[in-house]
Amino acid sequence: MKVEHIGIAIKDLSTSNALFAKLFGEANYKVENVESEGVATSFFKCGDTKIELLEATREDSPIAKFIAKRGEGIHHIAFEVEDIHAEMKRLAGEGFTILNPEPKKGADNKLVCFLHPKTTNGVLVELCQEIR
Ligand code: ZN
Repeated sequence: MKVEHIGIAIKDLSTSNALFAKLFGEANYKVENVESEGVATSFFKCGDTKIELLEATREDSPIAKFIAKRGEGIHHIAFEVEDIHAEMKRLAGEGFTILNPEPKKGADNKLVCFLHPKTTNGVLVELCQEIR
């Protein structure tokens, strides 16, 4: 439906919160811990979309691994979908590798799943659907 948000892996949430607040001229509107993923998130509004800052809260967090390998930077692009189950089925049928076979609960009241970057030209793609 649209780019729901862009996820950026960062090392320190308070430093990056200040940096992005300066960039946008507006503070973040929400912080949320996603315990299951080992991440602390912070959201900024950017017109019709959002920027999600991601800080690792554990050493085995996917964000900690990403930063160790590639440093800070864009981590994923999230596309909003109407029906995540239907889209996952469709994309699996098209040959994309879905990283989690069942949608999981992400930040911001969303069901999410990720597509393996090997099947999406190196871009980690998130599908997200509002939990209704
Ligand atoms: Zn995300």
